[in-house]
Amino acid sequence: MKTFNYHSAKDVKEASKLASSNSAFLAGGMTTLPSMKLGLASYKDIIDIKRIKKISGIKVSGKTVTIGAITKHVEVANSKDVKKAIPSLAALAEGIGDPQVRNRGTIGGSIANNDPAADYPSACIALNAIIHTNNRKINADKFFTGMFETSLKSSEIIEAIEFNIPQKSSYQKLPNPASRYAIVGVYVAKHKTGINVGVTGAKSSVYNDKNLAGALSKNFSSSAIDNVKISTSGINSDIHASAEYRANMIKAFAKKAVDAC
Ligand SMILES: Cc1cc2nc3c(=O)[nH]c(=O)nc-3n(C[C@H](O)[C@H](O)[C@H](O)COP(=O)(O)OP(=O)(O)OC[C@H]3O[C@@H](n4cnc5c(N)ncnc54)[C@H](O)[C@@H]3O)c2cc1C
Repeated sequence: MKTFNYHSAKDVKEASKLASSNSAFLAGGMTTLPSMKLGLASYKDIIDIKRIKKISGIKVSGKTVTIGAITKHVEVANSKDVKKAIPSLAALAEGIGDPQVRNRGTIGGSIANNDPAADYPSACIALNAIIHTNNRKINADKFFTGMFETSLKSSEIIEAIEFNIPQKSSYQKLPNPASRYAIVGVYVAKHKTGINVGVTGAKSSVYNDKNLAGALSKNFSSSAIDNVKISTSGINSDIHASAEYRANMIKAFAKKAVDAC
């Protein structure tokens, strides 16, 4: 590992000031540390944000659930408030990785990293999330811009993620048997204002499947999906699954999610 400067930031302002195009924030370190150890990434400055209490914790108010960026997956999975307000979100967190990953990994780190197979981005899309940073509020559909890419600037810090509580929702995934990342994951959410189908694992970045959402808007039942054709264009193909297999799984897991709502 190359040498770097370690900073422990006392608040968001200090963390943001220390940041540059050659730095990383250290939340749980579940992506940053292995990437550095394997020589896939190197940084001049590592800015530890784990001690900034202001960006931790879970709040439920009327129509929304707001989760601080450094809240760990295990806290979301075990939260009685999340289980009551959006049970599918708690279940998603419970299905991430293994106990070690869930006890270190954070929701902010997960969405900032935007791994194409990560689970939380699909929840952000399906639950019309608003990403609160130290500078602005970003709607989820403008936040995830490509493979491992987001609209965040280098000194911008996610403070919290605000999810809309849906009428019904379910997240279903085909997990990679080793890492539990989604080979395909589908998050269906029915809101008063419409339906979203967040799909992860299938393309270079999470997306809202408008064809599936359109069919479900007319008839919210798994049979409504039967005639929707999922194109293989832009769908990932790798040693785990071909594009054709993934396209089938999108449909199968969307149906499963609707049945589980
Ligand atoms: C073995 C293994 C299995 C896993 N399985 C799954 C899985 O099944 N599903 C899944 O979804 N994920 C999975 N993950 C990912 C894991 O859940 C973490 O969420 C992810 O690795 C990010 O880690 P972290 O929160 O520790 O962030 P870090 O590694 O600390 O940071 C990651 C990146 O996010 C940036 N960042 C962190 N916090 C912020 C912030 N508040 N504001 C702005 N930028 C920030 C950092 O600068 C860095 O670039 C797995 C990881 C491992 C190692």
